Amino acid sequence: MRGRCRWGRSNAGASVTDLAVDDVLGALRARGREAYLGEPVTVTEHSLQAAMAAEADGAPAELVVAALLHDIGWLLHEGPRPHEERGAAYLERWFGPAVTEPIRLHVAAKRYLCTIDPDYRGRLSAESRRTLGRQGGLLDEEAREAFAAHPYAAHALRLRHYDDLAKVPGVDTPDLDHFAALVESVRAR
Ligand code: FE
Repeated sequence: MRGRCRWGRSNAGASVTDLAVDDVLGALRARGREAYLGEPVTVTEHSLQAAMAAEADGAPAELVVAALLHDIGWLLHEGPRPHEERGAAYLERWFGPAVTEPIRLHVAAKRYLCTIDPDYRGRLSAESRRTLGRQGGLLDEEAREAFAAHPYAAHALRLRHYDDLAKVPGVDTPDLDHFAALVESVRAR
């Protein structure tokens, strides 16, 4: 499916449903190098640092890929849904829940950790503290229990940890090509 990349100028009209996994990485290559999230790193640097942290932690392949792609929602067209929902819904066409659910839950994981661990909130980046309110703030008891009971809650918490570690300017990481085979290996459809 090379050559049908949505991010390439010559293929701007291609439907997102035509995209292959190469094009997912293409989004990070083409747009992620300029995009910032209010952090001192680009989206691509942030994604690579998160994936590297997951790899160093011995995370399963699906979770490494989730770490790499967890903020791809920021590179898709704006819509009414928050970025974690946009990203997970976009990725569902290729990946199973072991990739998409930790991504969908990575903001809920932050809200959960802020709720149960007062120290966690203090350790967040200034930008991440700032966005907490907009993301819904702390969880009430019902929402806390619902999060904890989710089958991918543990992986979402691990992803959150990698996310929080991945905001350091100037860190040497592997490049996107390093992760391409891994992305392909966990592709479910
Ligand atoms: Fe992130």
